[in-house]
Amino acid sequence: MNILNIIEKKINKEELTKEEICYVVSEYTKGNIPDYQMSSLLTAININDMSDEETFHLTDAMLNSGETLHFDFKTVDKHSTGGVGDKTTLILAPLVASAGSKVVKMSGKGLGHTGGTIDKLESINGFKTKISFEDLNKQVEEIGVAVVGQMGNLCPADKKIYALRDVTSNVKSIPLIASSIMSKKLASGSENIVIDLKVGRGALLTTYEDAKKLGELMVKIGKKYNRKTVCVLSNMSEPLGNAIGNSLEVLESLATLNNRGPKDLTTLVSELATIMVSLDQNIDMVDAKIKIFKCLDDLSAKNKFYEMVNFQGGDLKSLKISKNKKDILSPVNGYIKEIDALRLGELARKLGAGRLTLEDQIDYEVGFVLHKKVGDYVGKDEVLITMYYNKVELELMEVLSSYIFSAIPVEKEKLIYEVIK
Ligand code: URA
Repeated sequence: MNILNIIEKKINKEELTKEEICYVVSEYTKGNIPDYQMSSLLTAININDMSDEETFHLTDAMLNSGETLHFDFKTVDKHSTGGVGDKTTLILAPLVASAGSKVVKMSGKGLGHTGGTIDKLESINGFKTKISFEDLNKQVEEIGVAVVGQMGNLCPADKKIYALRDVTSNVKSIPLIASSIMSKKLASGSENIVIDLKVGRGALLTTYEDAKKLGELMVKIGKKYNRKTVCVLSNMSEPLGNAIGNSLEVLESLATLNNRGPKDLTTLVSELATIMVSLDQNIDMVDAKIKIFKCLDDLSAKNKFYEMVNFQGGDLKSLKISKNKKDILSPVNGYIKEIDALRLGELARKLGAGRLTLEDQIDYEVGFVLHKKVGDYVGKDEVLITMYYNKVELELMEVLSSYIFSAIPVEKEKLIYEVIK
């Protein structure tokens, strides 16, 4: 087999065979195909797309490039394609566990404008995100939930290919995203997979049509492997919830577990949790929803969060928010028409809440708290957003440029567009 022929075939819009795809993935992972040839093939795929059959073969080849995990029990997993203020895992994982399902969640660090769950958890002093497989198995057996960093040698091919896609502008390809996400989800051993697929300015995919295509493809891949897979298309045009920044987002998660969270965050978490419990326990959505609301109402979800933090060595009392804060006031009377999630995410990163390279140090104490969301009325000089800062202080105009105001009432955007099964 010859890599040049394979690249040429894709440039000519021909379909690649299973053998060709396996050959490329295996030889690239071993270092026998150089980056320049692989990036040429990835660009051809990005431009000319892949058939469903090719995407299945690619997923399978990446899945088989490394280890797969097998727990002693059935688990349910959730994945988010990432966004600004997205702290759903912190609430969802203990909530679903308190409703009787077992949740093993492997999460990542944040890069660019989106935050990472692992960074949020590491803002809690002592919280261990790296544990052995044996300890993970034991923890979930005992308390039903664990949120940890990636472990084992899962999908090494995806790790290498994703890094190359990132630096060659080949991230936003639907078959490449579908195979990348699904190979990792399949390798991490859950029978049931729920994907929160974000759409909008702050998300990887900005149009509903592309997100729907990606969601349908991931559900098809899940079905091939007999895993129940559901994709929830949710809005990421404005940030989710009110807090952006690591410690601030942990505090907002705690408020949500105490039934005092923002409406959008509470709604999305409850919907995702209901789907997870319904899939995992094979019960209908109404019964699952009753269970979920009971666990929020009687605080068993909150207690499960504390149990998980204790089990993983965290000390919630250590959580620190910067003492340097500045309220940014509305320059006008009016309605909020847009809050640019991408821009606010980039500004939070500039404050130190995120990183540009994986080596950058994070400042857990900084970020923003939004006091108004899209559709809300704000009076002139009313507090719009509070900035928490340490080393870097942003110009007020920089922050205000994330907002568009309207003199006439604005309808709130839909939070959940569609559920694909
Ligand atoms: N997340 C992934 O894991 N892979 C992608 O390709 C995009 C987002």
